[in-house]
Amino acid sequence: MAVHERDEEKESPSLRTCFEYLDQTSRSFSSVIKELHPELLVPVALFYLILRGLDTIEDDMTIPLEKKDPLLRGFYKITEQEGWTFDGNGPDEKDRGLLVHFNAVIEEFLKVKPVYREIIKDITQKMGNGMADYANNAEHNANGVNTIKDYDLYCHYVAGLVGNGLTRLFVESGLANVALLDRPSLQESMGLFLQKTNIIRDIKEDFDDKRRFWPKEIWSKYVTNFEDLFKPEHLDAALNCSSEMVLNSLTHADECLFYLAGIKEQSVFNFAAIPQSMAIATLEKVFRNPQILKKNVKITKGSACAIMTESTQNLKLVCEVFRRFTRKIHKRNTPRDPNFLKISIACGKVSTIAFGALSSHLKTSRRSNNSSNRYSLLRTRKPLYWKRRTNPHPKRQRKSKKMHR
Ligand code: MG
Repeated sequence: MAVHERDEEKESPSLRTCFEYLDQTSRSFSSVIKELHPELLVPVALFYLILRGLDTIEDDMTIPLEKKDPLLRGFYKITEQEGWTFDGNGPDEKDRGLLVHFNAVIEEFLKVKPVYREIIKDITQKMGNGMADYANNAEHNANGVNTIKDYDLYCHYVAGLVGNGLTRLFVESGLANVALLDRPSLQESMGLFLQKTNIIRDIKEDFDDKRRFWPKEIWSKYVTNFEDLFKPEHLDAALNCSSEMVLNSLTHADECLFYLAGIKEQSVFNFAAIPQSMAIATLEKVFRNPQILKKNVKITKGSACAIMTESTQNLKLVCEVFRRFTRKIHKRNTPRDPNFLKISIACGKVSTIAFGALSSHLKTSRRSNNSSNRYSLLRTRKPLYWKRRTNPHPKRQRKSKKMHR
């Protein structure tokens, strides 16, 4: 059931166009965005479309660099250029229609509150510059990502920045704890955990498209040439390499749980939690799975639905999801893997944090139902978002209504 529902009657034709493009361009985010609190619904939907537009320019190898570079760097200004459209994408670019009708996005963006607009423009500018730097980097284009540091930086531009922008929107709207602003590493982890997990899952697809995101610093420990990862005679090495990639991603999981503790409102919680839960499930699915070297491996529809339900309740259930999948990774971990010990420790860490949050939750809810407990993952005040989705206490309900104004 939707937490908040869109009121389509009141929407202008251009806003309806924007939502149509949201459905078309986002397979995983469109439903959670559309259920967001009314204060953030349109800003977040437009933020998504603007970044999708930027990415459609970045991904298109038919656009010459001298044309692409200024478009990427200046895209934040384009978001406020009334009537701007772009039909310079190649015919095969899947989201080219969005840019052909980008005037609708701009029209709606100009109606958004200036504070939200500044945040979105700031992230668009930083991401556009980062993408342009990579597009100009011949080394990167020929050989892919080199060091683990480069890998983190690339993921920062395409995902970490989104975590920062969304956090600022959540806090500005009063729907998340201000303390999140002082924790850039938590914001970064929210983006990197998703991005890195997708990079592991998409290895074969990216390789076929001649893109390499697994850093050389990691794969070169296992194989001499990147393409060896896909050869049957190097299967063991490839699996060990993939488990180091999983380990690298898993190190962000604990910070994602800390982050989620700072969200105060149900629809924002769902929006942030669902992709993270899907990511931990995907990470378990790809762990030491030889199939990833042959095709795009996906979690089943049934599993995705179950995770969706669990992640739209409260932090306690999300912690349970994280524990469940971490335990499964732990079980499949093998002493033959050179990363065995590190993976074991990383799993233990996530499990302990998730369990700590759980037992603390149970203890405090047994002791009393008021907000006097001192426990908080953020170590500030108790996250308002611990309890059930429907709050039976009228006192607290009044408080949360005030926050939404
Ligand atoms: Mg891209």
